[in-house]
Amino acid sequence: MSDRNVRAVAPKNRHCVAHALGCRPLSESLKSKSEITRGEELCLKCGLCCNGAIFADVQLMAGDYAESLAELGLAVKLGGSARKARFLQPCVAHDGCRCRIYDKRPSYCRQFECDLLKRCSGGRLAKEAALEIVGTAQERVALVKKLLLDLGDTEINLALGVRFRRTAKRLERGGPDQSTADLFSELTLAVHDLNGIIAEEFYPGNRQTFA
Ligand code: SF4
Ligand code: SF4
Repeated sequence: MSDRNVRAVAPKNRHCVAHALGCRPLSESLKSKSEITRGEELCLKCGLCCNGAIFADVQLMAGDYAESLAELGLAVKLGGSARKARFLQPCVAHDGCRCRIYDKRPSYCRQFECDLLKRCSGGRLAKEAALEIVGTAQERVALVKKLLLDLGDTEINLALGVRFRRTAKRLERGGPDQSTADLFSELTLAVHDLNGIIAEEFYPGNRQTFA
């Protein structure tokens, strides 16, 4: 995605501001274990809609305040003529599958439920089956990350799709040797498999295109 026509709102201390403001992760919320719903339990083991696997960025909506969210540490970019304000993923508030700014999270985060979550919460898919799908997706994310690193991409603060496209361009410019070309083929296949499970199980119409 292009960054043209966008101004950044500098987050203050990306890692610690949420804690400093007293925002607690779900793990530290007042909920007891028995109060955590089936859907929440699934999300606490997943995090794919926060970690840059599904989304490269998330648009702010009515009622969201860019400055306040930047104060909480989110990497907010103000919109220009062509784009709306948004924050980038992987989200800096995402901490081991928990949201460090849960009580203050943006509107889209409050509203979003992936297809897997809807099926699980609605009783159309057993929790165990949903967790297995989450586990498979996470294995695929881990493989894509490993291959990106093997190919010299260390930009772990960028969404996987962005990293993949940058890596593809870099290798295209440099004319890769055979072993690098083989690794890139492996990466392309791994990305294809990850996109497949995301499109099939989590987010039909996934807008983060890897190709
Ligand atoms: S991708 Fe779905 S299951 Fe995973 S954290 Fe997001 S809403 Fe929950
Ligand atoms: S603000 Fe919280 S819920 Fe929203 S993307 Fe970041 S970690 Fe996820």
